[in-house]
Amino acid sequence: MNVYGLVGNPVGHSLSPPMHEAAYDALDIDARYVTFEPAVDDIERAVDGADALGVSGLNVTIPFKQDVLGLVDPDPLAERIGAVNTVDFSGERPRGYNTDAAGVTRSFAHHDVTLDGRDAVVVGAGGAGRAVAFALADAGCRVHVANRTVEKAADLAAALDDASAGGLDTLDRVREADVLVNATSVGMESEESPVPREHLHGDLAVLDAVYSPIETRLLREACEAGATTVDGAWMLLYQGVEAFERWTGRDAPVEVMNEALRARLS
Ligand code: NAP
Repeated sequence: MNVYGLVGNPVGHSLSPPMHEAAYDALDIDARYVTFEPAVDDIERAVDGADALGVSGLNVTIPFKQDVLGLVDPDPLAERIGAVNTVDFSGERPRGYNTDAAGVTRSFAHHDVTLDGRDAVVVGAGGAGRAVAFALADAGCRVHVANRTVEKAADLAAALDDASAGGLDTLDRVREADVLVNATSVGMESEESPVPREHLHGDLAVLDAVYSPIETRLLREACEAGATTVDGAWMLLYQGVEAFERWTGRDAPVEVMNEALRARLS
């Protein structure tokens, strides 16, 4: 039996175990997906221990994504983003990936949203914001990063081609944009929106990385403005799909994983 898992602190409410185990069941793969919660200063021992014990793969979440970058061989995208959320132990050395980026592009592709040549606004410049911004820039978007802490937005934009940055006072850029992604935690378990509704319009495609609640105020107001909306569960789904495919070398049963995920979110 292969063992996969999620390492984070805390990991108590993770939706990844049912999503991945539904995929194993559907494809008759002899595997289990479990959660690990090492102490925050124990991540190196945890990764080494997982490798030594024959764990096949790990997803990585807060607060370990940046630390794990230095403990594995990261692929070039993970290195540019500065964070690893997926480790594959099948080779001689553990290999690190960032599948949050594919989670973004595959979510838009699923909703028939074209990214190449489009103007995009990314709100947020934390871990998710970095993955989103690199994903959109690599897909051909001109990216504007708007973040509460302007220096973080500027650092991120400087690492991208054809990108700009500013504070939250530059959110009026959304009026001229084709694509908007919320990569802040604003709206999580709250009725706040990170973007004033008067900036939203019908030619936008809006992805909210927040998935709790599944319909955030931003998505509700974007829908009312006539925009195409993509909820955060799609990004969560497709980062997991991408990890599954890297670990197993097989096409993921996307519908099965989506159903397992949404059954726990509704
Ligand atoms: P993080 O690294 O802590 O970054 C948090 C971001 O939110 C920063 O840009 C921060 O701005 C901003 N922020 C926080 N409070 C704010 C406020 N009151 N007003 C304006 N901006 C505020 O967290 P993260 O890992 O990037 O996660 C961000 C969100 O994405 C979380 O809700 C997380 O659940 C979600 N997420 C979803 C997925 C998915 O698959 N759907 C994947 C990853 C993350 P400052 O830089 O100014 O502090």
